[in-house]
Amino acid sequence: MTYRESFIKFSQLVKPARLMAVSKTRTLDEIKNAYDAGFRLFGENHVQEIVQKFTDYKPEDLELHMIGHLQSNKVSKVVKIVDMIESVDSLSLLQKIDAQAKKIDKVMSVLLEFNTSSEEAKSGFLTENELFSCIEESKKLTNIKICGLMTVGPVSCPKEQKDELTDKAFKYLKSLKEKCSEMFPEINFDILSMGMSGDYQIAVKNSSTEVRIGTAIFGERVYV
Ligand SMILES: *Cc1c(COP(=O)(O)O)cnc(C)c1O
Repeated sequence: MTYRESFIKFSQLVKPARLMAVSKTRTLDEIKNAYDAGFRLFGENHVQEIVQKFTDYKPEDLELHMIGHLQSNKVSKVVKIVDMIESVDSLSLLQKIDAQAKKIDKVMSVLLEFNTSSEEAKSGFLTENELFSCIEESKKLTNIKICGLMTVGPVSCPKEQKDELTDKAFKYLKSLKEKCSEMFPEINFDILSMGMSGDYQIAVKNSSTEVRIGTAIFGERVYV
């Protein structure tokens, strides 16, 4: 499939959700080809890759989101380049993002990542209370805009339970979004970022508004 064909195919399949091309490990040439084929939203999970690829290449209408775990010593680099950080999983990280954003006079859009399957290897807030208190505290932060929630579906579960547990995780994130909207009516939790190559159909069925697809667009990743 060409990038153009997969752009058309997946834009249709994930409707009404937005389609993100997850371009981690992909070369800048692959990204440029994907952009030329129509993709506008890209996701990366390593700060170093973001800096290498997007410092000199970032067309006006290309939107770049950080979707991987973010170490606090790399916050300043990422805040400068990306349009959204989807992987905020602690208040201290949020405070550091706010401080760096303030320095460059930017309001940083963020999603709060929740660990909906309680798997230890995954990042994200683990309890609702931590999430709620982070949102409460964020009211003091002038250079942060919370835009919604993000999750990664279960990864290390038995194959025969995968669909059921994924459905449960995504339903949970949706209900959490509704709870947050009720508790904090002044904040818009419009974005529900969930679904990847293997589970985007379940995500779309559960009202995902943004689906993050890597492998199904670019092929298997090779880590060197
Ligand atoms: C890699 C990654 C994706 C895309 O995964 P695929 O299975 O290749 O579609 C989506 N979300 C996050 C957070 C990722 O790290």
